[in-house]
Amino acid sequence: MGRVFLVELDDKAYRCKFCDTPLALADDILSRSFSCRKGRAYLFENVVNVSCGPEENRVMMSGMHTVVDIFCCGCGQLLGWKYMIAPEKNQKYKEGKAVLERWRITEDVSEDFNLESRSSDPEYT
Ligand SMILES: [Zn+2]
Repeated sequence: MGRVFLVELDDKAYRCKFCDTPLALADDILSRSFSCRKGRAYLFENVVNVSCGPEENRVMMSGMHTVVDIFCCGCGQLLGWKYMIAPEKNQKYKEGKAVLERWRITEDVSEDFNLESRSSDPEYT
């Protein structure tokens, strides 16, 4: 696997939880009401720094779709999936859009971002 050029996002972005690679702009979010097996997932107009798996037909809650899994270019973790073909007319808006599973990403704007770095826990000293 060759080195992949990473796109930097200046604005508020969602990043890979494990390697901090920027993945999508907060402005590109279309819906926060998607769900995955692990809970909440977000639908994005556009994602960057991802690689795609092979196309496959998958039955979702909203019917059958042709999707590809998307992976982080930085660390290779599975991030979510992208809709390639949505056969139902009322699902067509999803084509070309990507879903990122919320628990796999972090938000630049998140307030609890620094909690983990406060490691001076008195119980261990
Ligand atoms: Zn990553």
